[in-house]
Amino acid sequence: MIIVYTGNGKGKTTAGLGLGFRASGYKKKVVVVQFMKGRKTGEIIAQKKIPNFVIKQFGRKGFVDLKNPSDRDKLLAKKGFDYVKKLIESRKTDIVVLDEINIAIHYNLISLKDVIRLVKKVPKKMVVVLTGRYASKELIKIADIVTEMKEIKHHFRKGVNAVKGVDF
Ligand code: ATP
Ligand code: MG
Repeated sequence: MIIVYTGNGKGKTTAGLGLGFRASGYKKKVVVVQFMKGRKTGEIIAQKKIPNFVIKQFGRKGFVDLKNPSDRDKLLAKKGFDYVKKLIESRKTDIVVLDEINIAIHYNLISLKDVIRLVKKVPKKMVVVLTGRYASKELIKIADIVTEMKEIKHHFRKGVNAVKGVDF
């Protein structure tokens, strides 16, 4: 099963994590792979307390200059994707959440072709979630579930900075 959470509203990453959290209750094995992220967030701390639930980060602490990503950013994204390939092909994981992969594809850190090839090989019983803005049309076509988070309001527009426990 392929699920896509995209759009400009808040909730894509939390939806992916929430699905993993729910599945963990049924003893499913969950791996969340985060692209372009290397910061300590609430989910990084919480994973230790959730059974069969691991997060692997492939990113630096700082923000990626999306229009001009560094060689290190590209290398980390590539490493992340190599890890995901092995993870999916080994068939040992029930739920694989690819957090921000849509962004990594959109800015050419990962090749769309490679992702599509992999997504088409996902075993029937495995659930793969792809999050991030700008999901590609091709991926949307292949997916079983696609949700577009639409921004109605976001506190960022009022000048509120990211809130601990809510935004990270
Ligand atoms: P979350 O991680 O809270 O589920 P998200 O994954 O949908 O959000 P991203 O596009 O990955 O959002 O952006 C990551 C950060 O940007 C989060 O801190 C989130 O709160 C914030 N954010 C999300 N949507 C918006 C928006 N429309 N305007 C400003 N900031 C946003
Ligand atoms: Mg996100």
